[in-house]
Amino acid sequence: MFAFKSITKRFGQTMVAEHIDLQVEAGEILAILGASGSGKSTLLHIAAGLQKADSGEVWLNGENITFRQPEKREIAMMFQDFALFPHLNVWQNVAFGVRLRGVGKAAAREQAQNWLAKLNLSHAANRTIAQLSGGEQQRVALARALIVQPKLLLLDEPFSSLDTALRQQLQQEIIALIREYHIPALLVSHDPAEAALTAQHIALLADGRIIQYGTPAELFRRPVSAQAARLLGCLN
Ligand code: ADP
Ligand code: MG
Repeated sequence: MFAFKSITKRFGQTMVAEHIDLQVEAGEILAILGASGSGKSTLLHIAAGLQKADSGEVWLNGENITFRQPEKREIAMMFQDFALFPHLNVWQNVAFGVRLRGVGKAAAREQAQNWLAKLNLSHAANRTIAQLSGGEQQRVALARALIVQPKLLLLDEPFSSLDTALRQQLQQEIIALIREYHIPALLVSHDPAEAALTAQHIALLADGRIIQYGTPAELFRRPVSAQAARLLGCLN
């Protein structure tokens, strides 16, 4: 299980997080829904250890990891822009994390092939990244994230650049993998439909605060304020 405990963060005068408390259970997706610039990516960076909170704690599976180095956190991250390595081919991209952990080339390649098969990408194992479509690149990024068996998956608007059909397919694949491997996942998005389709719980983020938290059904049935309704797309 993952938790933020009273996370506070400001950049100069801008308060991006003010006493944020959130929890995600293994196998579930928590969506953080907020407008652009509301601090969503910053929260993920704090979870990953790429940025430091001013105060508050980050917990993972009963351990306080607030001061742990990013590479020791066993957290994987997937971005909107894939961030794949252009100089490595597909299987080398997928194998990267296990190679880094000292697994030999042949064994790492076999693990990568298994993940590529799981994501219907076996045919592309030896291609360069430039030879893949956007959807394929995003599935390579997913395989690369999961091959290291992370204890938490962070998803920073990973579907935004995909068209509707591909987006829905990838969403279903991610949901199934998170269930199968029993990983907690934090998804940040500005798209209410995406949050509703993928997450068990949604947290609405505005002005550095969680203004509402609940299941998608609860939120859409009863937004607590006009601001909440707007974030959910129920008001213009
Ligand atoms: P979101 O992902 O919701 O669009 P971000 O977390 O990227 O929002 O940014 C939240 C706010 O913090 C924005 O106003 C952004 O300009 C600011 N910000 C983000 N990162 C930095 C930084 N490293 N230094 C200064 N300001 C930042
Ligand atoms: Mg962002």
